[in-house]
Amino acid sequence: MANPSLLILAGDGIGPEVMDEVKRIIGWFGDKRDLTFDVSEDLVGGAAYDAHGVPLHDDTMAKAQEVDAVLLGAVGGPKYDNLDFSVKPERGLLRLRKEMDLFANLRPAQCFDALADFSSLKKELIAGLDIMIVRELTSGVYFGEPRGIHIEDNMRVGINTQRYTEAEIERAARAAFELAKKRGNKVCSMEKANVMESGILWRDVVNEVHQADYADVELSHMYADNGAMQLVRAPKQFDVILTDNLFGDILSDCAAMLTGSLGMLPSASLGLPMANGRPKAMYEPVHGSAPDIAGQGKANPIACILSFAMALRYSFDEGAEADRLEAAIEKVLADGARTGDLMGPEGGTPLGTTEMGDVILAALDASL
Ligand code: NAD
Repeated sequence: MANPSLLILAGDGIGPEVMDEVKRIIGWFGDKRDLTFDVSEDLVGGAAYDAHGVPLHDDTMAKAQEVDAVLLGAVGGPKYDNLDFSVKPERGLLRLRKEMDLFANLRPAQCFDALADFSSLKKELIAGLDIMIVRELTSGVYFGEPRGIHIEDNMRVGINTQRYTEAEIERAARAAFELAKKRGNKVCSMEKANVMESGILWRDVVNEVHQADYADVELSHMYADNGAMQLVRAPKQFDVILTDNLFGDILSDCAAMLTGSLGMLPSASLGLPMANGRPKAMYEPVHGSAPDIAGQGKANPIACILSFAMALRYSFDEGAEADRLEAAIEKVLADGARTGDLMGPEGGTPLGTTEMGDVILAALDASL
């Protein structure tokens, strides 16, 4: 059988720096675990704009459609801030999500014990935290029509439309239930059914999917505003949270920060299964291109490495190898390895990006 294929789009700023460490990890799995990937690389974001005048070339888009998974670094930077909206680096990312139809965005919020002090919440509230937010990513108010700024009665009116079809809700719900079955078997669906018709439909469809195919998964519903409160009051009550695009945008950022640094947060965006059964997929750290530290070898590569761990688990059915990689990261953190973003008030000498890669590779070696 052919090796699984990966397209690496490292992007801008710290993207290429953190992705270099991921490439070493990918190499390790090939050398030591007989898990070899066919890796190709291309440009996205500002780097693609510099080369081609567009943030994602058509050829790159075509390649992304063909591979088993895309790994993305980060896009953007001050150099591109004044470009026309249509060619801004972020448009490259949006095009990938849209054309690959990546409708389920998975954002884990997991607390590594060694970093529990980094949370703004009390340690006992977040120690051992492991929740997953499934955010619908391709519909809802960010895409609904009509939209725009119009003049009505000599006054400007801003309009966006929250719109969901049954099919869009159903596929997001299925993604959440499937995930829950591999985790704590609980889904909490969040909307605003008290004030929004789209929320009423959301709740109905989630209930229908649950009754039809996932009755063995524990399902609860919560208004999204209460969900935000519960996330900071008692986050460990949740396993999988299912929500729409707008509420998911906010709730996933809130949940992510429960655990501390941006440099630690991975994500996955999944679509429908391809002919080989694997879902269309893109994996990327939550953080951006961090222009303030780019080029200095200081960036924390862990978010990007954890994104690759998600690829092992969700695209390649290599859960045990994903566990191995996550355990190696847990181990180096427990041993005190820290990049600058993870330094506490006690100080110490931070590791650079490559040094963090080195200790993780050493921990992987030690796991054999
Ligand atoms: P950012 O995530 O790039 O940085 C925010 C802060 O966190 C900075 O101080 C940065 O140094 C720090 N940080 C982020 N990642 C880190 C890491 N791995 N290690 C250590 N420190 C890290 O967000 P921003 O500053 O608001 O945006 C910078 C650029 O990135 C903008 O052009 C923005 O549009 C873009 N952006 C891109 C993405 C993406 O590619 N998915 C996401 C967010 C922002």
